[in-house]
Amino acid sequence: MKIDITDVVSNENKRVTKEVEIDFTSFESKSGNFPIIKKTPFTLQLTNEENKRMLIEAEVDVTIEIPCDRCLTPVAEEFHIEVSREVPIGECEAASEDEDEFDYVDGFNLDVDRLIYGEILVNWPTKVLCKEDCKGICRICGANLNTQTCDCQKTELDPRMAAIQDIFNKFKEV
Ligand SMILES: [Zn+2]
Ligand SMILES: [Zn+2]
Repeated sequence: MKIDITDVVSNENKRVTKEVEIDFTSFESKSGNFPIIKKTPFTLQLTNEENKRMLIEAEVDVTIEIPCDRCLTPVAEEFHIEVSREVPIGECEAASEDEDEFDYVDGFNLDVDRLIYGEILVNWPTKVLCKEDCKGICRICGANLNTQTCDCQKTELDPRMAAIQDIFNKFKEV
């Protein structure tokens, strides 16, 4: 959703509180399209600081479904995001079309979706696992090794190769 920030931008030291929510239902990025399975409205606090800066503060809870890095089982990943951003007031009025760091402010509008999207992106986990010791899927037959066993490794690898495979597995588990 977009909210009108004229009030804050044009009144020195004005402080407003707004109940807002994000409209998007999935998180699309270069790595895929991830459904948002839980979101709640939250409070956005906007403060005009001496007509120089606008301070944006909020606490947002969002749950996004992300596949496990090893076995692809969907994992409900909870994001608790604390937003604290300062935007130069001049930046608001400039209404620039640039894809810059303040792209969530457009003239006298604040694009809540764009702001929160950016916050989720920087908080994106480097690793998502369904459980700490997830065994992953067999690269040969595709069996989920958490729930099944397979004989691929035993039959296809001799001991020396198995050692290399171990190293390879460790390397993959970054
Ligand atoms: Zn897993
Ligand atoms: Zn297998």
